[in-house]
Amino acid sequence: MTPITIQEVKVITTQPYAAQRLVIVKVITSEPGLYGLGCATFTQRFHAVVAALEHHVIPYVLGKDVQRIEDLWNMSMVNSYWRNGPVLNNAISGIDQALWDIKGKLANMPVYQLLGGKCRDGAAVYVHADGADVHEVADNVQKFMAEGYRYIRVQMGGYGGKYAANIRPEGAQDGTYYDPKAYMRNALKALEHVRATVGDEIELLHDIHERIQPIDAVAFAKAVEPLKLFFLEDALAPEDIEWFTRIREQCATPLAMGELFNNPLEWRSLVERRLIDFIRMHVSQMGGITPARNAAIFAQVYGVRTAWHGPADTSPVGHAANLHLDLWSPNFGIQEWCRFPEFMYEMFPGLPEVRNGYMYANDKPGLGIDIDEKLAAKYPCKDEVLQWTQTRLPDGSPARP
Ligand code: MG
Repeated sequence: MTPITIQEVKVITTQPYAAQRLVIVKVITSEPGLYGLGCATFTQRFHAVVAALEHHVIPYVLGKDVQRIEDLWNMSMVNSYWRNGPVLNNAISGIDQALWDIKGKLANMPVYQLLGGKCRDGAAVYVHADGADVHEVADNVQKFMAEGYRYIRVQMGGYGGKYAANIRPEGAQDGTYYDPKAYMRNALKALEHVRATVGDEIELLHDIHERIQPIDAVAFAKAVEPLKLFFLEDALAPEDIEWFTRIREQCATPLAMGELFNNPLEWRSLVERRLIDFIRMHVSQMGGITPARNAAIFAQVYGVRTAWHGPADTSPVGHAANLHLDLWSPNFGIQEWCRFPEFMYEMFPGLPEVRNGYMYANDKPGLGIDIDEKLAAKYPCKDEVLQWTQTRLPDGSPARP
């Protein structure tokens, strides 16, 4: 049988709203009308991913058999000798997810069937509640509860809070200032207020976003233990993960980590040592469905659940990939959901729908999602130096965003 091959690969960029510069890969095959889509979005450095695809990854995959996902993934990763990193992983993910989409279309099955079939019919999602003060935060949590959400992330004033005291030294540079200690106090107050207001029937989450010192993360995880969070996210920066041992020794707050990870070495020992409860890698950032499937199976052996990263800078195609993993994984934990605006459903027909706190697949073959390229082209990506990631501590020194 003559293999179906990769004839052409298009890299589609679009910035439909806010600062989300999305990168979508469209793999077009030798079979007329057969193509697949993959997410390659690294919004902060999207030009670099486009260049990696156009100059390096695509020339290698052109003409190859679309069925050989494992072979293409592994060879694409070692072909550059230097492996991983957000640019290369995302570029490879674009091809990988598109090939899973194509394999599903060839099999006339949704991707979750190829992975082993459904363990559940809908994936429970969590959404983000925020507010300027504890009352506004609680109001927003209750609004989500009224829409059927049962898992809600509670923040106040965004990551790190908005409570940077104006105590910067003379001549300090501009930037997005935050005060780690003030953030800790205020986040704890917000979580306590929300728990007292809404009771125990709702699952609460919180994202520290690696904004505090490791020893403060230990203290914070202990302080929120009585509030029984579903999980505490990114209590530590990837550079500080050895501190997870200290948190584990002192409390039973469930811990989630992973959106910044590039390399399996970053999560492997955390899972093996049961230092975290949820892996939440960004599926395109780790290289696509193929490595995510492997990580999910690895985590299952150790009793660790999945909670794939699901922000608005994961493209709708990436969210579809998340969903197929969610429906299949026996050790699925929760799915982050960014609540795309309605017009995104026109640009990406088949974008997963969320009803009453669950995300559903449309059961079409492959990933079940498409892109209206003409509509996407109406929103070209803008070049701008990002502001929100220019984060600084009160004394003006640079900090992790
Ligand atoms: Mg996060």
